[in-house]
Amino acid sequence: MRTASFKKRLEEEKGELESRMSSVGRLNPEVPDDWEPVPTETGLEADLVDQADVTVSRESNTAILADLEARYDNILLALKNIEKGTYGKCEVCSNKIDEARLNADPSASTCREHLGA
Ligand SMILES: [Zn+2]
Repeated sequence: MRTASFKKRLEEEKGELESRMSSVGRLNPEVPDDWEPVPTETGLEADLVDQADVTVSRESNTAILADLEARYDNILLALKNIEKGTYGKCEVCSNKIDEARLNADPSASTCREHLGA
């Protein structure tokens, strides 16, 4: 399978996700490759914001970040598989994943039958 175009799309999406993640979180200095949410309000104004509001915005950042990170992990896995030469194989049954499916989502890691596995 030719993976060059998938690799390009995955790398583009990886960059996009990194910039989106850095707007709601920051890299955890204690855990490599882990992102932690930051409150939406930062700087001087944060002191003036009611404590409850800060908690709410941190929680919504947590949810946003969790979604982005899950997607980001899939992208990293797909890129790793390209390097190993195992890209495009279902991680459950090792059958080839439909190229149409990969076109729709280059980070797909399962065949149609094992969708969501
Ligand atoms: Zn499968």
